[in-house]
Formats: sequence, C-alpha cells, structure tokens
Amino acid sequence: MSIFERQWREGLQAKKDAGLWRQHRTLNSPQGVNVNVDGRLLLAFCSNDYLGLANHHDVKHAAIDAINAAGVGSGASHLVIGHHREHELLEEELAEFTQRDRALVFSSGYMANLAVVSTLAGKSDTVLEDKLNHASLIDGGLLSGARFQRYLHNDSASLERYLQRFHQQNQQTQQKEYTQRKQLVVTDGVFSMDGDVANLNEISRLCQQNDACLMVDDAHGLGVLGPEGRGSVADAGLGQEDVPVLVGTFGKAFGTSGAFVAGSNELIEYIIQMARPYIYTTAMPPSIAAATRASLKLVQQADNKRAHLKQLIYQFRQGASQLGFELMPSHTAIQPIMIGDTHKAMALSQYLENEGILVTAIRPPTVPDKTARLRVTLSANHRFDEVDELLETLAQAQVAGLV
Ligand SMILES: *Cc1c(COP(=O)(O)O)cnc(C)c1O
Repeated sequence: MSIFERQWREGLQAKKDAGLWRQHRTLNSPQGVNVNVDGRLLLAFCSNDYLGLANHHDVKHAAIDAINAAGVGSGASHLVIGHHREHELLEEELAEFTQRDRALVFSSGYMANLAVVSTLAGKSDTVLEDKLNHASLIDGGLLSGARFQRYLHNDSASLERYLQRFHQQNQQTQQKEYTQRKQLVVTDGVFSMDGDVANLNEISRLCQQNDACLMVDDAHGLGVLGPEGRGSVADAGLGQEDVPVLVGTFGKAFGTSGAFVAGSNELIEYIIQMARPYIYTTAMPPSIAAATRASLKLVQQADNKRAHLKQLIYQFRQGASQLGFELMPSHTAIQPIMIGDTHKAMALSQYLENEGILVTAIRPPTVPDKTARLRVTLSANHRFDEVDELLETLAQAQVAGLV
C-alpha cells in the first residue's frame, strides 16, 4: 500500500470514528418542500430555496427559452467570448436592484468570494473576518496572503480592538499612502449556520472611523430581508458608501446558481482586470443568467411570500421553544436547533428522517466543536400544517428520549 493510500484509509476511518462522516443523498424530484430522496417521499426543512423559486414556472421557462435561443454552454470565459447578452442584462438589473454603480456575475459564490477578497487585499494588508464567516470568505482571506485575523462573532468591540491596533501601527510607520497597509473587514450579512444578522450599522461605522473597507456577503439575506428583498444591507439602511463591497449568491433565495459582486465602477473594473478566479474560468451558462433575471423579478414582487415566511418563522420559534429546544437569536429563515453533541444531533436527524422529515445535522468543522445542531430552514412554500408536523415529530423524539 502506498503512503498516500495509507493516509487516505486512516483519514477516512478517523472521520467515521468521530461521527463526522458525510454522505450525499440523491434527489429524484425537483428541489422543494416535498422531495423524493433515494426513492422516499420526505418533507424537507433543509434547502436554502427560501422563496421556493428553484422550481418556479417563470424561472424554469426563462431558462428553457434561453437554451433555445443561446444554446447550453457559454463556451468561454467572460473576457474571451463567453459574456452573453443575458449576463450583461442581469448585471445591469442587479446594479439597479442593489442600488450600486455596477455588478459583476460569477458562476459560484465560492469563487466570487475567493476573487474579491484575494484581489482587494494583498501581502501588505490586513483582512479582518468574523469568526463564523462562510468558508469561502475565510479561504479568500488565506489566498490573499494578507495578515489574517478573525474577530469574535458579531462582536464589534472585538473588531474595534483589532481595527485600532492595526490603524495605529499603520500611522506609526508613516508609510506613503500608496504603500499603506489597507484593512479589509469581511462579514456575512446573515450567518449561514446560525441565522443571526451581522450588526452592520456598527461595523460600517467602525470601518469608516478606521479607514477600513467593508465587504458584506449577503448570501442568506438577499431575497429574504429588506425592502423588496434587497437584503440585510438595505434593511440596515446602508448604501454603497457604507458597504462598498456587496456579494450576493443566486443558489439560495434566487433558486438558481451563481453569484455577483456589486459596488463602484472602479471596484468592478479592478476585479475584472485583476481577479484570477474571474478571469480564468468559463462564464455561467446564459440560461442560468436568464433564469436569474426571472427570479430577480419574482424576488422583488415577493412581499406576500416574505410575509408568509415570517409567520412560519414565528410559528416554528414559538412551538420549538415551548417544547424546550434551544434556538438561536435568529429572525431569518435559518432556525437551527442547538444540540451540542455530534452523535446526538445525528441520531435526532435520523429519527426525523425515519418519520418522513428531512433536517440535516450540521457538525464540526462546519460549526465550532460541541455545537452540532439541526439546521432547520423554512421556505415560503411550507404550509403551517407542515411546520406543525415538524414540531409534533420533534416532540415525539423527546418522548423517545433522543433529546
Ligand atoms: C452558499 C454560500 C456561499 C457560496 O455560494 P455558492 O454559490 O454556493 O458557491 C458563499 N457565502 C455564503 C455566506 C453562503 O452561504
């Protein structure tokens, strides 16, 4: 056995022993609230399709029409010949939606974050990130080669200490402006595994005080929060001046796939010219851009869906706390039930699945040690009686002694 194979075998066994084995299931139906998973019909509370647009008629038909008009593959990167009219129109519409000068489309959020963070910060800079930021933001920070510091979760005092420390060091060295250490602060708008919202007003104030640039990844806020679903940044009343770098993804409330960054003309042009993860990859298929344009329209008109979602969130929180479950300080569609122990979280998830309900257990390293949880997510397509069914099954699990 080669040294590599031995390492693979041991590494895999260690994952299994720690209860951290991951396995994908196979979906045999469209994404939705009622899904066919490996041949079984399940009621699902685990997708990020918060508005139920992944299988929406208008979105599907926009994609089908665009395939008929533009074919399937984009054929090249944006800067070669892959930039289709559908991408161009989507970017214009996103700039208007986010009330920013310009937007730029990527084929995934992971790549958008790698591109933006690693392009805006370099070896002589500092990147400050919330401890619970999405992995792609952390990886972007590491790829940038900048001095990398994580601050305590949503703790502006912790952020302020680092900002001031680096700001002072910077002034002491009295470097010429163009060689100064820049500070980039990066946060999720809505934290993906906890559901809480970043304290954006405070963070943006601190950034302005300390000459730092603020980047917000609003993957889980767009479509769900704010006027017309404009997200957590708009909900906090903040504009391009306050949050110069805004990232959003299409794989969540938009129900499609891909991502964008929005900001000033200079920011977008800088990323186009400099960002390797933008330059050296094939453009998303034009049909996905077309589908996303259709979902952007629906997102803006989705006040009724958002109102229903809000009621479902209230219903779930009321019911689950009455049962004595530990919830998190979240008013978004992400409503985790804190369990702690990894094996216990797995057992509860398995119990629910046996009863026909799908809720995934989220374990380390996705979340910190000893904070395994069931990540319940709600969708505007859920009905009140379906949330009742989830609550009743959770109550049964308590009776069965699983929690
Ligand atoms: C899902 C997610 C991403 C990654 O987006 P993909 O398009 O799935 O690659 C980035 N940031 C956050 C906060 C996310 O939740």
